[in-house]
Amino acid sequence: MRKDNLRHRYHRGMTPDDLSLDPLDWDAFRALAHRMVDDMVTSLSELRDGPAWRPMPPDAKAAVRPPLPRSGIGEAAAYELFRDRVLPYSNGNRHPRFFGWVQGNGTAMGMMADMLAAGLNPHCAGFEQSSTYVEQQVIEWLRALMGFPEGASGVLVSGGSVANIIGLTAARDTKAGFPIRDEGLHGDRPRLTFYASTQTHGWAAKAANLLGLGNASFRSIPVDAEQRISIPHLEKTIAKDRAEGMRPFCVLGTAGTVNTGAFDDLDAIADLCARQGLWFHVDGAFGAWTALSAQHAHLVSGMQRADSLAFDLHKWGYLPFECACALVRDAEAHERAFGIEGSYIEPTGRGVFAAGIPFARRGLELTRGFKALKVWLSFLAYGTDRIAALVDQNIAQAQRLRRLVDDDPSLERLAPAPLNIVCFRHVVQGRTDEELDALNREILYRVQESGFAVPSGTTIDSRFGLRACFVNHRTRMSDVDALVDRIGEIAREL
Ligand SMILES: *Cc1c(COP(=O)(O)O)cnc(C)c1O
Repeated sequence: MRKDNLRHRYHRGMTPDDLSLDPLDWDAFRALAHRMVDDMVTSLSELRDGPAWRPMPPDAKAAVRPPLPRSGIGEAAAYELFRDRVLPYSNGNRHPRFFGWVQGNGTAMGMMADMLAAGLNPHCAGFEQSSTYVEQQVIEWLRALMGFPEGASGVLVSGGSVANIIGLTAARDTKAGFPIRDEGLHGDRPRLTFYASTQTHGWAAKAANLLGLGNASFRSIPVDAEQRISIPHLEKTIAKDRAEGMRPFCVLGTAGTVNTGAFDDLDAIADLCARQGLWFHVDGAFGAWTALSAQHAHLVSGMQRADSLAFDLHKWGYLPFECACALVRDAEAHERAFGIEGSYIEPTGRGVFAAGIPFARRGLELTRGFKALKVWLSFLAYGTDRIAALVDQNIAQAQRLRRLVDDDPSLERLAPAPLNIVCFRHVVQGRTDEELDALNREILYRVQESGFAVPSGTTIDSRFGLRACFVNHRTRMSDVDALVDRIGEIAREL
């Protein structure tokens, strides 16, 4: 609130009890809001003309860190600071030649959906209101897309990490063999163990800690040459653990590992879990979307047999951060793990609380924002066939890069590239691995710092290389060729 605004109001004889954060001048605010929309639409429409990344200069870093503003500078001045000092310096994930890590790009429609969601600002624990029915339908659509049965339960959360933790928690609580929500992990209970490959994403180690299991309960299983969990090792470790008095409760399969995009043999894991009475959880953070691809859906065969599945909407679903989904086959198991009780949340037969708070009973959060709106609007606007086509387009781009790498004697692929991630390095005859690591690091920095593109780096079998991941709806096939050309140019400069 601006001081002069306040003074102005007091001069007009207003008493402080009509203070609010609504604009004092709605017309002026409307004009400012239109400018914000115009600027962002321009920014999105001109992405290809700008650098993929530019370093943030020291003066911009200082400018975004003013002292605590006890009196405000007003909406327009605050916005200008964003436009001049924040907007130009993102990590580049919106850009058509961003291939780093696994980061989605967002969409123009998703941006507006987040504005609409914040404008309506419904409390999405539930309640008798439109957002409850929108979210229920979004979960229903996602359930059907991923091949889960009717009656399965779901919830939208901030990201894949949390969605996975929800699945693993339901697994732990269901398979512990004692009332763990009442008793916790105390006394001389057997150690509860879960199993996943060495290529499992870092969320699983965090989950082992959060769920009170500890790292010793996370049994890390070696992978085969295709970077998939070794089923013989898995079986052997489970048998050994049982023999030593531990209590296995879950196997995690990954559909699309973060490093190389490998797919565990999900059918084999499903069979094993069925035989052994274990919970089967799938981390499909990005790879679950392969289910939409006519050509590649076989890679996720078995995923629909999982007890729980986690996947992101903000990676290969192309939506803005943040949004992910956890699906749990057994709705009662889901609610047993996260349900809450209290007289203040007992459903009433009528009125605003008639619908209860179903979403607060399926995850960690009580107060939740309207993430479902961007999914709902996006699916309605574009249709899921369009998303499926984009998934195929990204796979085709990665497979083209794989071929270009394989055909180029100065490039070497570091891992199988079954889907949408290609790891490779530049090679020079006669150089040691150590020299090649340094050379490839320099190439990576120069590609990024020139603003041309943003691949990321990774080390596979102790060899450092570049990693390009395709979950970008703005990338064109020509960008793939351009990336390879640029790497060649930089290598020649060096
Ligand atoms: C990105 C990723 C995660 C974590 O998801 P967030 O949305 O970043 O929390 C988990 N598993 C895999 C395989 C991922 O690629």
